[in-house]
Amino acid sequence: MSLLDPAPKRAEPKLVSPDAIVRAGLCIGCGSCVAQANNGAAAMDWDAYGQKKPIGPASFMGEATEAFSRTCPFSPLARNEDQLALERFAEAPLSDPRIGRYEAAYVGAVAEPDFRAEGSSGGMVSWVAAELLRQGLVEGVAHVAPELPETGNGFFRYRISRDLDELRGGAKSRYYPVDMAGVIAQIRAVPGRYAVVGIPCFIKAVNLLREEDPVLKERIVFVLGLFCGHMKSARMIESFAWQMGAEWSEVQKVEYRLKNPDRPANWYTAQLTQRDGSARTQDWWHLVDGDWGSGFFMNSACNYCDDVVAETADIAFGDAWVEPYSSDGRGTNVVIVRSPLVHGLVKNAIGEGRLDLQPVDHEFVVQTQAAGFRQRREGLAYRLSWPKPGLRPKKRVAPNQHGIAPRRKLIYMMRFGISAWSHRMAWLAKQTGQPRLYVGWSRAALAVYHGVAYGRGRIGKLVDKLKIKGEGG
Ligand SMILES: Cc1cc2nc3c(=O)[nH]c(=O)nc-3n(C[C@H](O)[C@H](O)[C@H](O)COP(=O)(O)OP(=O)(O)OC[C@H]3O[C@@H](n4cnc5c(N)ncnc54)[C@H](O)[C@@H]3O)c2cc1C
Ligand code: SF4
Ligand code: SF4
Repeated sequence: MSLLDPAPKRAEPKLVSPDAIVRAGLCIGCGSCVAQANNGAAAMDWDAYGQKKPIGPASFMGEATEAFSRTCPFSPLARNEDQLALERFAEAPLSDPRIGRYEAAYVGAVAEPDFRAEGSSGGMVSWVAAELLRQGLVEGVAHVAPELPETGNGFFRYRISRDLDELRGGAKSRYYPVDMAGVIAQIRAVPGRYAVVGIPCFIKAVNLLREEDPVLKERIVFVLGLFCGHMKSARMIESFAWQMGAEWSEVQKVEYRLKNPDRPANWYTAQLTQRDGSARTQDWWHLVDGDWGSGFFMNSACNYCDDVVAETADIAFGDAWVEPYSSDGRGTNVVIVRSPLVHGLVKNAIGEGRLDLQPVDHEFVVQTQAAGFRQRREGLAYRLSWPKPGLRPKKRVAPNQHGIAPRRKLIYMMRFGISAWSHRMAWLAKQTGQPRLYVGWSRAALAVYHGVAYGRGRIGKLVDKLKIKGEGG
């Protein structure tokens, strides 16, 4: 069977197990299955590619239960984002098939000091979480904060912050695998009201868990979503260390996006700080895997994702990736508010001058995430039309390979291949102690990708000469 043959129809499974989700490459590593397992031996652990996966005895991994089938965010039997959003935001006055149901959308940043300077973008996530704490609407916020690698948890971990200093210490985006199993256990153990910050698939998992577990439903009272392009593996920063000349075993602190108001916001700069305090800094575009769109180190589940903007979150935040905002190094958010209560907080703060936000419509929001929507609408339809072993995901986008320009198809295929092979090549480089194996392969893969996607170099000339139709990017 060729890649271009339509996918055969397969009977829907009655129930699914964690093992089936992992084997099908659909596990994003959220930890929801471990959080609800009545099995002390179930845990989240690192796999060989630096991604988080559930592990445990066959009685956990192999057991296909109704509860798991309803709550794993990638289970074909779980409710989808449209169904969850309809239940959560039935009264929402606005809706759009790409950004979901909502009350209002805005572009701008926090005016109150110093959220914007401390945040990756306009500081809105930390501000809303802080406002929920300040107004006494929650006692704790589950979000992702730096961790010392000696702890064995990696460089970042979900934690519950209970005061403003703790919360603000966790600002900034972490493109790093984390799981929620620990914080969900803490929320179950300690009464109170909580907010959870997460990427769209994690927010879906929390909403599904809330429906399953009355204690979580009562205690998790707000979910704050981050827009999402895709999740990287932990190897990405190991690769950065190889290329930046940092001693991997000495790296203590990782910054994915150093903020510099004098440079465009979309010029990402990474910084690795070593144990002796010395730091290595490099712009992402000088790194072989630093072009976000090429898909290096992407989790395979992201190939089957259709939620770009956290459609089931009370409020969702992204970067305003359109001019003039992309060039404003201070960072600018685009925000979708879905919950009337949170909208009230936002409107009050705009009135008091604590937030500097202007209303925008859904077309503006979609424009800021144009590449993400291409990858997860047209690209997803195309990928779903390919044959796939094991469990098939059930998405809101129908499989389709017709009417997609040949160049676009090539881009989607290359991205899929780069993400799959980057894991394998980095694994090989690590096993053999030869980083150049990975770096050399990546440089070549990137050159081909840039030729196809942007018409760069000799490959680009060839693509033009062959008149392969379709837009790049
Ligand atoms: C994997 C990933 C992919 C993303 N892709 C896109 C994209 O394609 N387009 C786009 O516009 N925006 C994307 N974002 C969101 C963007 O990077 C910013 O997080 C967002 O604009 C909010 O910025 P801020 O300044 O308001 O947040 P800040 O004030 O800096 O606060 C960020 C908050 O998010 C928490 N946090 C950070 N990383 C994670 C994580 N991995 N999981 C859960 N919580 C976390 C922090 O603990 C902190 O509380 C992505 C974020 C992540 C983590
Ligand atoms: S996606 Fe989440 S719930 Fe599903 S198997 Fe992976 S860790 Fe478990
Ligand atoms: S792209 Fe989708 S599946 Fe992947 S991390 Fe983001 S929200 Fe989750």
